[in-house]
Amino acid sequence: MDGAGLPETRSTCPYCGVGCGVLLRADGQGGLSVRGDPDHPANFGRLCSKGSALAETLGLESRLLAPQIDGQEADWDAALQLVANRFKQTIAEHGRDSVAFYVSGQMLTEDYYLANKLMKGFIGSANIDTNSRLCMASTVAGHRRAFGTDTVPGTYEDIEEADLVVLVGSNLAWCHPVLNQRLLAAKKARGTRIVVVDPRRTASCDGADMHLALAPGSDVALFNRLLSDLAKHGAIDHDYLARTEGFDAALAAAEADDVAVTGLQEAEIAAFCDLWRTTEKVVTIFSQGVNQSTSGSDKVNAILNCHLATGRIGRPGMGPLSVTGQPNAMGGREVGGLANMLACHLDLENPDHRAAVRDCWDAPTDIPDAPGLKAVDMFRAVGDGRIKALWIIHTNPVVSMPEADLVRDAIAACPFTVVSDITAATDTARLADVLLPATAWGEKDGTVTNSDRTISRQRAALPAPGNTRPDWAILAEVGQRMGWTKAFDYETPAEIFREHAALSGIAAKFGRDFDISGLAALGDAAYEQLEPVRWPVTAERQGGRFFAEGGFFHPGGKGRLLPVRHRPPAARTEPRYPFRLNTGRVRDQWHTMTRTALSPKLSAHLAEPFLEIHPTDATLLQILPADLVEVQSPLATAILRARITDAVQPGQVFASMHWTGETAPSARIDALVPGATDPVSGQPESKASVVAVRPY
Ligand code: SF4
Repeated sequence: MDGAGLPETRSTCPYCGVGCGVLLRADGQGGLSVRGDPDHPANFGRLCSKGSALAETLGLESRLLAPQIDGQEADWDAALQLVANRFKQTIAEHGRDSVAFYVSGQMLTEDYYLANKLMKGFIGSANIDTNSRLCMASTVAGHRRAFGTDTVPGTYEDIEEADLVVLVGSNLAWCHPVLNQRLLAAKKARGTRIVVVDPRRTASCDGADMHLALAPGSDVALFNRLLSDLAKHGAIDHDYLARTEGFDAALAAAEADDVAVTGLQEAEIAAFCDLWRTTEKVVTIFSQGVNQSTSGSDKVNAILNCHLATGRIGRPGMGPLSVTGQPNAMGGREVGGLANMLACHLDLENPDHRAAVRDCWDAPTDIPDAPGLKAVDMFRAVGDGRIKALWIIHTNPVVSMPEADLVRDAIAACPFTVVSDITAATDTARLADVLLPATAWGEKDGTVTNSDRTISRQRAALPAPGNTRPDWAILAEVGQRMGWTKAFDYETPAEIFREHAALSGIAAKFGRDFDISGLAALGDAAYEQLEPVRWPVTAERQGGRFFAEGGFFHPGGKGRLLPVRHRPPAARTEPRYPFRLNTGRVRDQWHTMTRTALSPKLSAHLAEPFLEIHPTDATLLQILPADLVEVQSPLATAILRARITDAVQPGQVFASMHWTGETAPSARIDALVPGATDPVSGQPESKASVVAVRPY
């Protein structure tokens, strides 16, 4: 039986924040065929290399199919009871802040919602943070400072309606390929100009009209120059500015900054400013190159300042657009999965917001009134013994966190670590006391939200293998076994979704943006059939853009421009560590390769870990193409294959972050990256470490 006669299941790709729709057809032999969904508004049938190869990554060879306790197979009852008992015991002996959850943008919204509810509402601690902290926490902070809420103002259609698209710290061609396909199609159709702002010449530069190879970390100075230039040429929209505050201070800070720190030629800067100023329809897309910085929040606000000062926001073809790395980073933000957020974009610091959430959940304890530990601080607290019980869900921090060796040692020494995942073959899972086998993409049901606020269903097209269970069911069972029977009594993800949607309606009464109360009465059948829908979803409104007429979410309704000044990266180059190390992704791999490495086709793209180094530096160091090189930071050393290329500038090197202790033990790049973080967002600076390079 080839499955050709079976119906197709509509679902969503699990890899990146574009959130492409896919059509799945079971092949009758335990596998699936996958094609792009022509009706999904994110991709209209397109897929990238990773999405196209999804069917190759579904084998059960590396799957975790039964719970394990201390490396021995166990039954669910024993494993779940042990988790509940150890968390309860730790809280009783050391207090509620002695436990923590580290979760993931891979989780479905319903899973994420329950993890947050369990920790913040019932355990009573805010010690839940997510690997989205490494991805876009600076954007969240920037949005909240400017808009009053974490609101993405625009939509993907703006990319097609813009006359100028500026990519800042975003290699869209490799990291969000379907959006890049949409951008290049628009360029062909209407001549969209494209500018790439990135220290490195990436694949995204292939379709660009201009590449500004600025010095690492100098984006604030560039956008401050743009703001000064807009003011100097009378290009400020004073009618729109009346809906905001803070312009004078922002402009004063901008004029005090020195654009020379970008290292760009004055002529390049002038050409960029001219193009931006004289083009009304401008979209600025930004990603990890902006966010993963000790000045990431300020970079975001420097970009937002320019859009607010000119009213280029919330109208077709205009506005800032943050693109997220993970399929459900946005859903995680919506449920309050970050340590400094409450559910439905409510504020932890606001007593009325906390009381409303507590009432909705009928929680037994006050919601914590201060942020919990953000990712870097959380693992440091594990390391120094303040956190004594840790639950890690669908993420591999031993590879992906900065100061990864310290994270590995901390988890290894933690008195009790639980890992929920689809495989036991990760560097983190190997350190777990309890391993909980979760259902994987293709087997689980729920929702995700992509980078333009579109909520889509992930649907199961395959049965759950072995003894695997959905994450929401695992979390609910632990909540019940910890004593909160009624609050965690769920039969389906649809029930959880309805509760989340109802809470968003309460949040809207407090003037919050995230309102999907129009979905709160969705029956099980309607949830099953739910079409992709962009929030807000209420009786009065569905989707659309924000802020064309103002209407911000700060008290008083005004948007805010922020005074921001250039700050250099935390680590300074010095004779011992003369190179600036940039890290990032490659086109065909995803995170720590737990899925994509299963596809021979994807693994063939760039088959081994590498270091990009400029020809001048390679000559000076007597490094030849394909030589092995040793890369050393103050924290650790990696051995990589040299790729000599002028895509990087002299004095800078680039390495990919995917390879793990499982796939290439000498190439765990994040072991080299220090844990310096943005003081506002807590996001680590993953693109500006300092290293020495020498032949190996
Ligand atoms: Fe999947 Fe992202 Fe590729 Fe779309 S662009 S197919 S969501 S990896």
